[in-house]
Amino acid sequence: MIDKEIFDYDFPTYLKTIADFTASELIPAEDEMVAAGAVPDRIVTRMAELGLFAISIPRSYGGLEWSMAQQVALTLEFTRASCVYRSRFSTVIGLCSQAILDHGTDEQKQRLLPEMAAGELVTAFALTEEGAGSDAGHLTTTARREGDTYIVNGSKRYITNAGWADAFVVFARTDQSIPGADGVSALIVDASSPGVRTALPAIMNGHAEAPVGEIYLENVVVPASNLLGDIEGEGLRMALRGINHARLHVAATCVGQATRMLEEVTAHLNARKQFGAPLSELGAVQATLGASFAEMEAGRALVMESARAFDEGDIPRHRIAAAKLYCSEMASRVADRCVQLMGGEGIVGPHPIPRMWRDVRALRIYEGSSPIHERNLAKAMIKQVGVDGTLPNSYRV
Ligand SMILES: Cc1cc2nc3c(=O)[nH]c(=O)nc-3n(C[C@H](O)[C@H](O)[C@H](O)COP(=O)(O)OP(=O)(O)OC[C@H]3O[C@@H](n4cnc5c(N)ncnc54)[C@H](O)[C@@H]3O)c2cc1C
Repeated sequence: MIDKEIFDYDFPTYLKTIADFTASELIPAEDEMVAAGAVPDRIVTRMAELGLFAISIPRSYGGLEWSMAQQVALTLEFTRASCVYRSRFSTVIGLCSQAILDHGTDEQKQRLLPEMAAGELVTAFALTEEGAGSDAGHLTTTARREGDTYIVNGSKRYITNAGWADAFVVFARTDQSIPGADGVSALIVDASSPGVRTALPAIMNGHAEAPVGEIYLENVVVPASNLLGDIEGEGLRMALRGINHARLHVAATCVGQATRMLEEVTAHLNARKQFGAPLSELGAVQATLGASFAEMEAGRALVMESARAFDEGDIPRHRIAAAKLYCSEMASRVADRCVQLMGGEGIVGPHPIPRMWRDVRALRIYEGSSPIHERNLAKAMIKQVGVDGTLPNSYRV
């Protein structure tokens, strides 16, 4: 439940509240979280009370309704802490709520969004399958209509919040005669339905406190009223706004992570003396720091500009893809340089840098892997230049 007074905050007050929460609660709880292997329950409760599950949901559905530029500014703050915290509410504020908002029926919006905003209904976005990752349109989970229900069969993997979700937005093929994306629909599946089983991985290469789960669906009976938007065959198109929303948040997350890593490493370099002087006085070290700062700021500018354009109406999907691609690669580059600058402490011991180096690696894979963004951007450029000689989302007027 969101604290009542939060609804009266103007944006600068809310931003400061989240910045204070990050500094006084999220960052200090990182080691506890790593030891426990999950975000502590009291932190999740506090996130809900502060409205972090509600930042993108309209006030009419119990949310805080910040603009995309404001959501990005918030993300830059709370992802100075471990990016794993964000994952705990990201599937609610991004992928799931945006699809429901854009395409859900009135009944679905009224039923689901207020509880999602309050942090009382955690949702997960269940698209990826063993045989359908980058090529998501060829998924094989099925939803067969039987009277007023669908019978869902299949399995999903790598699903963020699978272990905590109360409901899944499951993408399933409702028309077996159409092999690609056009045969896919989105259904809201109650996680406690008979026939639903989840499993968490034993090992993750970083990002481990936000474990991705497998979901098995065996003859799961789903009311037809849970077909998103009450339309078959539009599932993947309905997901698009949420996917763009999430990609931009991930790009901002990468900038937040780079900010924290550069603060941490610079403090270390100021304190650590070799050859009679702080390491931060060495020219080679300064060159690495300066280049990293410039790249981080380039990422921030791209994120802010994409958010501004998003708020204007048309989703700048190519610019968002560029932001996601650039920022996730930038965060990994910065992380790797920070490990090098830390020396042995970048590998051995409890400093946050080695943990963050592992965590940010995942950001180049989810929400569209880097090679997929490169490929899609190139395809869009080639097509658009072929039509009118301009680039997609070009600034030219
Ligand atoms: C931490 C984490 C959280 C996730 N959360 C979710 C979630 O909540 N919900 C969900 O549905 N999914 C989630 N995913 C899944 C994620 O979206 C997929 O991992 C991603 O789409 C890649 O699919 P894949 O892993 O099957 O790799 P593959 O598709 O097997 O690709 C492997 C590699 O080949 C490259 N490749 C594939 N096709 C091409 C091509 N045409 N051109 C060039 N390169 C190509 C890819 O870029 C990739 O690097 C998550 C994944 C991770 C790691």
